[in-house]
Amino acid sequence: MERKKDTAIARFLKTVFFVEILQGMKLTLKTLFTKPVTRQYPKEKRPVMPGFRGLHALVRNPETKEAKCVGCGLCAAVCPSRCITIYTSEGEKHEKVVDRYEIEVLRCMYCALCVEACPFGAVVLTEHYEYAGYNKADFKMTKDKLLGNWDKYMTGDKGTEYFKRFWGPRADDFKTPENQAVFKGRTQSKVDLHNAE
Ligand code: SF4
Ligand code: SF4
Repeated sequence: MERKKDTAIARFLKTVFFVEILQGMKLTLKTLFTKPVTRQYPKEKRPVMPGFRGLHALVRNPETKEAKCVGCGLCAAVCPSRCITIYTSEGEKHEKVVDRYEIEVLRCMYCALCVEACPFGAVVLTEHYEYAGYNKADFKMTKDKLLGNWDKYMTGDKGTEYFKRFWGPRADDFKTPENQAVFKGRTQSKVDLHNAE
């Protein structure tokens, strides 16, 4: 009974002297003079760390100015989201021509397996992350759009540096160990087999 009385008095005094309001004001004043942690995006942008996995790009061959992609399909095969589609046809010299290369970026989870799988360093993830659209078609990256992304976001030495620092292993990284048997050509191999018998 005595305890209940004490609690009622404490509550009454708290109300009379605005204790809770003053506590709230104290916190407001304290926050007012501390550095805000909220960024005023999009005016204030967070710097992108090198190696960030953003929007895709198809690498443009600096000599031919065409896409480096040869349409081997490894990137599409390895993609866990199944969001890469490649349409190829046969060229005049029986070479494979990449007619269409499409990525549905809304399905992509930016794992970068496509980049790692590509034996030609032909696809990359850029540092660009600000893309929005009004319909689904805006998020279907066509070959032209992907080449445009390379021109926009990986200009100069940026693309080269990206591959050097982040996207390995590349073909250049592999060295044949000494004394390892290597394939020397079909004819040679046949002769060796015959002699062995
Ligand atoms: S980043 Fe991953 S999910 Fe996205 S296209 Fe490449 S392999 Fe597919
Ligand atoms: S981007 Fe690379 S892995 Fe994908 S089809 Fe082109 S060459 Fe092959």
